[in-house]
Amino acid sequence: MTVEVIAASTSTPERFQPLQERGQRAVFCGLTSIIWLHRKIQDAFFLVVGSRTCAHLIQSAAGVMIFAEPRFGTAVLGDRDLAGMADCNDELDRVVAQVLERRPELKSIFLVGSCPSEVIKLDLDNAAGRLSRAYDGQVRFVSYSGSGIETTFTQGEDNCLASLAADLPADAGTEDRLLVVGTVPDIVEDQFRRLFTQLGIERVDFFPGSQSTDLPSIGGNTRLLLAQPFLGETLRALEARGGALISAPFPLGAEGSDAWFRAAADAFGIDAQTQATVLSAPRLRAEAALGKYREELAGKSFTMLPDSQLEIPLARFLARECGMTAREVGTPYFDARVMDAEVPLLPSGVDWVEGQDLDPALDRVRAIRPDLTVCGLGIANPLEAEGLRTKWSIELLFTPIQGFEQAGDLAELFARPLRRERALEVGSWS
Ligand code: SF4
Repeated sequence: MTVEVIAASTSTPERFQPLQERGQRAVFCGLTSIIWLHRKIQDAFFLVVGSRTCAHLIQSAAGVMIFAEPRFGTAVLGDRDLAGMADCNDELDRVVAQVLERRPELKSIFLVGSCPSEVIKLDLDNAAGRLSRAYDGQVRFVSYSGSGIETTFTQGEDNCLASLAADLPADAGTEDRLLVVGTVPDIVEDQFRRLFTQLGIERVDFFPGSQSTDLPSIGGNTRLLLAQPFLGETLRALEARGGALISAPFPLGAEGSDAWFRAAADAFGIDAQTQATVLSAPRLRAEAALGKYREELAGKSFTMLPDSQLEIPLARFLARECGMTAREVGTPYFDARVMDAEVPLLPSGVDWVEGQDLDPALDRVRAIRPDLTVCGLGIANPLEAEGLRTKWSIELLFTPIQGFEQAGDLAELFARPLRRERALEVGSWS
């Protein structure tokens, strides 16, 4: 490979030295995360302050919601000069009033910033403060940026949760609490809660939870366990509130889930015998579910283009638990602290890339011709047209994939495109 090395971390093992690329990228903006955030936080509304392009993006990304009354919308700001900014605030207030008239049950409104220059000129932090006062604390207003200039699609969630971290109540108690950080579907949250209870960890909160009014408290006794790997800013905001990170691999696959629960259990002083008693049955179930997909995936090669920031734990899962061969793995950002427990598990001899430069990356995919390329939606179709099999990385955010019970489903997501290819070959006239 011919990418230029701009810098490389010195704290990571020698076999994991990501090359850094800078150039054109093709990743959805942070607005996209509204699709899974609004499903999780059920009493909130996400108001994008943006352009018609932003409105089209979230409407098409959430196409399945078209017949429902969604809890997101766009306040479209047209061309204005600085003198017209007062009108922008009036317009925002008018749209907020309209939303609350239609949906009086809403408890929080997220004002989500975007790229257009009119929006960048607008101080959404101030607007959130002004609106909170105007609604007398009855509705919480929080602002964050989902702009494509500043964020890739999963960073939208990071910005959202980092903004919300300031509103978490302070915990002055003396007992240790566990805070699981990152959006997971309710079904996964329920499974996780059951296992934490069986392990003997009783005080467990999830951030975000399903109600924005039910914010978890945080303080010096809060241990932070990340469920998603793209939450570096949120982690720093929670650490500033007193929380302490539990370093763990991410709960993807049987091995990853087992290590994730064990890291939490170790931090809470749960003995090895209890850990084995609670975790061995779900781990065995997960390994059995994975088994049939391993037969399909073992020996196949994959490349990951930088997109979701899930790439490193996914590459670990595909290599170690599915027997696949990693050829090149790219990630938009590498946060050494967040990935601390993942790095030792990574396969050796792989080309790792941090950042993105689209054309050279695509040239390498064409040269390698891996069996599967995990990439963004916009890149997948052209690669499919060239006879390469792809998996949309965004699907991994819309599908429950974390935990023991989802390990088989996670492997199946990668087996599906390969199976489809075989079916086409068998059914083909050629
Ligand atoms: Fe496009 Fe920017 Fe709006 Fe995202 S925030 S849809 S990148 S204009």
